Amino acid sequence: MDHVMSRPSASRADRDAWAEPGVEDLGGGLYRIPLPLPGDSLKAVNVYAIAGDDGVDLIDAGMALVQARERLTGALGQLGFGLGDIRNFFITHIHQDHYTLAVELRTTLRGQIMLGEGERINMEAIRAVAAGREPGFIEMLHAMGADTLAEQIRAIMAPRLADPWPRLQWSDPDRWLADGAVLDLRSRTLRAIHTPGHTQGHVVFHDEAGATLFAGDHVLPHITPSIGFQPAITPMALRDYLGSLQLMMGLPDSRLLPAHGPVCESTHERVSELLAHHETRLEQTRDAASAGPVTAYQAASAIPWTRRQRKFADLEPFNQLLAVGETAAHLEVLVIRGQLARHTSGEGIDTYALSPPPPPAVPLA
Ligand SMILES: [Zn+2]
Repeated sequence: MDHVMSRPSASRADRDAWAEPGVEDLGGGLYRIPLPLPGDSLKAVNVYAIAGDDGVDLIDAGMALVQARERLTGALGQLGFGLGDIRNFFITHIHQDHYTLAVELRTTLRGQIMLGEGERINMEAIRAVAAGREPGFIEMLHAMGADTLAEQIRAIMAPRLADPWPRLQWSDPDRWLADGAVLDLRSRTLRAIHTPGHTQGHVVFHDEAGATLFAGDHVLPHITPSIGFQPAITPMALRDYLGSLQLMMGLPDSRLLPAHGPVCESTHERVSELLAHHETRLEQTRDAASAGPVTAYQAASAIPWTRRQRKFADLEPFNQLLAVGETAAHLEVLVIRGQLARHTSGEGIDTYALSPPPPPAVPLA
């Protein structure tokens, strides 16, 4: 699910130090600016500022909140810039905590917004949701055998969908970035690399010469990103995510600049941990399906959640939603690997069971 902790060593205060307001100087004209988010599950979102001679480029923008805008204004002021000096917003993905402040600021400023072209599908889905369609992450619950949970989520979300706060704008970026797009900022050259999984069109920005990876939510130091929690339906999100993690192992090891959490020295170290985490979850998920056909909901109910090994039944409905979605994603990977077989009932409910062994070879007469 969204926030499975995997490094329980540091105290809570140390773990959250990265989210304190301020500006962290990372050297070479690069700065980390944590901006506030509502609620306290993620604490903050990092915006990275790349200072240039005639302006500043930002990686991710934060959420369209008054406090975030004020915090960004103050931080850029410390660096000698105003909001009007922002040249480009390079956005890793379409989630509101990364994209929406850019859209709000662009209405009065010159900054150009760039977003991975794989997010078009989510932009369309977001607009469909605004027009009354059910978000994909709720619609998918039926096939996962979780109709009761879907009803609970609908009841929780209905007031928010009818009257969202803050009222977010979802206009298109100025440019949709293709996989491999090269962004020459003079002081640095970034390459946008398509890393689907957390969202369909997630991109990371790789500065090869500077051995630095702006990882967005693809690789986070303290938590595992949610998989496929997006308005568009994506049953293969975990397969995509694992492929996108392998892609990072194919790049040179780099300094990791995540969107949530502190800067870390090694992308490879954290990616290896994430790959190992998902292998463990795949084993647990396979075990949960070994006794007979199960739905994603039943499998999720049988495995422990969060680093505290909590029971599924004790999770809040919203975390149950993430847990069921993540379990379904793991079940689908096990199907792709040939370890499980999926059966879809006449009512459209998917169940999973161990794949029967291949039939014995029949000797030819
Ligand atoms: Zn995020």
